[in-house]
Amino acid sequence: MDENSLKFNSRTIHGGQKPDKAYGAVMPPIYQTSTFAQSHPGGHQGYEYSRSGNPTRSALENSLASIENGNYGLAFASGLAAMDAVIKLLKPGDEVISTNDLYGGSYRLFKKVFEKYGITFHFVGMQDVLNIEAAITPKTKLIWVETPTNPMMNIIDIKRVAKIAKKNRILLAVDNTFATPYLQTPLDLGADLVMHSATKYLGGHSDVVAGALVVNDKALADELYFIQNASGAVCGPMDSFLVLRGIKTLHVRMQRHCENGEAIANFLRSHSKIEKVFWPGFENHPNHQIAKEQMQGFGGMISFVTKGNNYEDALKIVSNLKVFTLAESLGGVESLAGHPASMTHASIPKEEREKSGVVDALIRLSVGIEDVNDLIADLNQAIE
Ligand SMILES: *Cc1c(COP(=O)(O)O)cnc(C)c1O
Repeated sequence: MDENSLKFNSRTIHGGQKPDKAYGAVMPPIYQTSTFAQSHPGGHQGYEYSRSGNPTRSALENSLASIENGNYGLAFASGLAAMDAVIKLLKPGDEVISTNDLYGGSYRLFKKVFEKYGITFHFVGMQDVLNIEAAITPKTKLIWVETPTNPMMNIIDIKRVAKIAKKNRILLAVDNTFATPYLQTPLDLGADLVMHSATKYLGGHSDVVAGALVVNDKALADELYFIQNASGAVCGPMDSFLVLRGIKTLHVRMQRHCENGEAIANFLRSHSKIEKVFWPGFENHPNHQIAKEQMQGFGGMISFVTKGNNYEDALKIVSNLKVFTLAESLGGVESLAGHPASMTHASIPKEEREKSGVVDALIRLSVGIEDVNDLIADLNQAIE
């Protein structure tokens, strides 16, 4: 079977997967081992030591490459570990351009860890690609895109950014955590590298922390593999198995996340106590047209602000929810609600935060796959 000829909804299940050689196990076994026996020095069957490689991790890495339409996948201990490996491609003096509306942990990694090694990060509003062009210098080595952005649901035009990156010989990386390859495949749009927090939709069940990179270029894959092995933040066998298991239902889950997301976005928009709803599926969303072009759907991530923009109101709503769980993270089968200003984005200074729209009354929802009527009723009672 040539898995590459399969459609996405089959590749989530079969992509890069072969029955296990030992007993024909249909699911990749969890090779919970640190090392592998050698018949003579160097006489191994492809694996020597589990930091360098593990069959369960390889199965996940093949699956990741397949669903992102890429050639090479790498699985890490977390999304941030995957990002950490990408930034380690750079050296002191290099500059990075990223979006000003970025996942808080990514911002922290860039500013608080890598800036002290002499790498400079510029944060710009990437919805306007002119802002990217204006920030490019001869030292710019990487453009880091996150789209849809977190938590403002801005959409960045990957194709246009890719053109700018190519013209200036800058590496383009896209954090595809929110969209997942079900909705968008950045490599097809010209990106060099796709990153995931597999903790979210890929894993899908809020039971594992993991990260992923997918690239097409062999030299880039080799360099990243070198860093992965040298630094050691690999995805363990059990975690690799859990993410693989999640990926098998990614397409069915995403379909329902999108349906429920649309219904809830519409409900919130029509509610008299809601000021504004951020969801790229709305025609009046400023980047709706680009979303329509580069995404297959609009997802289940929604942010909204209550009328009066009151900090206390927002806290009351998220505390009164009963079906939605108040928690960080996203992308699981269960619905979660969060208050970015005090939770996920607390590490970004208030002034910086509000510039990008993360006001005190902003609430973010990760809409799960429960019955949508229960979710709407829950939001309604909490808002009322
Ligand atoms: C969660 C998240 C990350 C970080 O991933 P971890 O698995 O938590 O390390 C990066 N980017 C986005 C968009 C995220 O949601």
